[in-house]
Amino acid sequence: AVDTQLIQALDSAHFLHPFTDLKDLQARGARVITRAQDIYVWDSEDRRMLDAMSGLWCVNVGYGRKELADAASQQMMTLPYYNSFFQTTNVPAAKLAAKLAALAPDVGERSFKHVFYSSSGSESNDSNVRMVRRYWDLLGQPQRKTIISRMNAYHGSTMAGASLGGMRDMHAQGDLPIPGITHIGQPYFFENGAPGESAEDFGVRAAGWLETKILEVGAEKVAAFIAEPLQGAGGVIIPPASYWPEIQRIVDKYGILLISDEVICAFGRLGHWFGYEKFGYKPDLITFAKAITGGYIPLGGVMVGNRVAKVLIEQGGEFTHGYTYSGHPVACAVALANLDIMERENLPGRVRDDVGPYLARAFAQLETHPLVGVAETCGFVGGLVLVRNPQTREKFKADLNVGMVCRGHCFANGLIMRAVGDRMIIAPPLTMTHAQIDEMLALIVKCLDSTYADVRK
Ligand code: PLP
Repeated sequence: AVDTQLIQALDSAHFLHPFTDLKDLQARGARVITRAQDIYVWDSEDRRMLDAMSGLWCVNVGYGRKELADAASQQMMTLPYYNSFFQTTNVPAAKLAAKLAALAPDVGERSFKHVFYSSSGSESNDSNVRMVRRYWDLLGQPQRKTIISRMNAYHGSTMAGASLGGMRDMHAQGDLPIPGITHIGQPYFFENGAPGESAEDFGVRAAGWLETKILEVGAEKVAAFIAEPLQGAGGVIIPPASYWPEIQRIVDKYGILLISDEVICAFGRLGHWFGYEKFGYKPDLITFAKAITGGYIPLGGVMVGNRVAKVLIEQGGEFTHGYTYSGHPVACAVALANLDIMERENLPGRVRDDVGPYLARAFAQLETHPLVGVAETCGFVGGLVLVRNPQTREKFKADLNVGMVCRGHCFANGLIMRAVGDRMIIAPPLTMTHAQIDEMLALIVKCLDSTYADVRK
């Protein structure tokens, strides 16, 4: 058995947690997570929790997959590590690059035949910044440096990742964004739609903010636009269907590169291998990480479309960029085994045609709860807004921290949901059965009821 107090004491004394109020954590003591199976995790007091967040949006295949452990162990015994700097490669890295190229649908001149590896989403987005600037340099347009991103986006925690991200509190810590990165509004209809405006009209209007920004910066200075297919960590903001076609029209009009950050949306999450398929646009670069290995081991990268790859390969010489772990053989072997599972179990198709629609129907019923302003899903992500009055959409005062109150009730009732302000979000493992979806929904209702009872006091 695990000695909870001992681990908590070691943790408080030595472990600086990411995105955590450290003093508050020291006072409470961290919950010690000790094991996991299927869609559940257990803590050191043997309390079981249904993990409606797949860890941090990554354990798409669920916990306890022996095949992934076997793939790692076999690769460690064969070749645990070798770099890819010395004109050397390794078997899993080459095979995985080919596999990813085969999975990405053909999108004409932008087809994805090449992969640049890293170990995380943040590093991958840093790679994107360097790669797009390099691309324009090679084409003799070095003034094209500016990358446009969106407010409230999350693209990672490195200097470039946090700069691309649009989180004000992240910018405030560290003097960000770095030069050459600017932001537009997010397509959040619930909050930003004008009275009487349809979601579709709003989608076109929100996409228009990109054109306004391009003209403000000067089209000849803009290198790329980066966005997630739907904003995940920003609170599961699902754009109206009209948004992406209009974005596509604008990036094409000005010839700027389009980066699709699919760290959350790829690998079945939206019912397709890649999120851009769901929304029908054509990116030039795709950021991936997280679910490529089911979260079992770190791996990330950028899928580089032909338009960019051709220039880098044919005109670029050496790209002075890379990581010790670019193409790590063990991580790539786990990714290959993970993609095998996803293919064999048809997880993207299952989300698209079966459990996704089932979840959507169940989730929509939450809108009858007196605390819920809107409850929506896309594939296997969902977000619901907690409001004081669903009819008028009146919000709660921020200092009530209603989202955190709700999250507390979730933990207490054996459910892991994330709170982003007053939006509660889920991204469960894609393997969930209908019965498990019912179980999750019953827990969500229970936690909403407890939160409602609290806020009415
Ligand atoms: N991009 C997106 C869209 C993400 O959601 C995240 C992490 O949540 C990242 C990038 C950063 O990835 P990582 O935490 O692996 O660096």
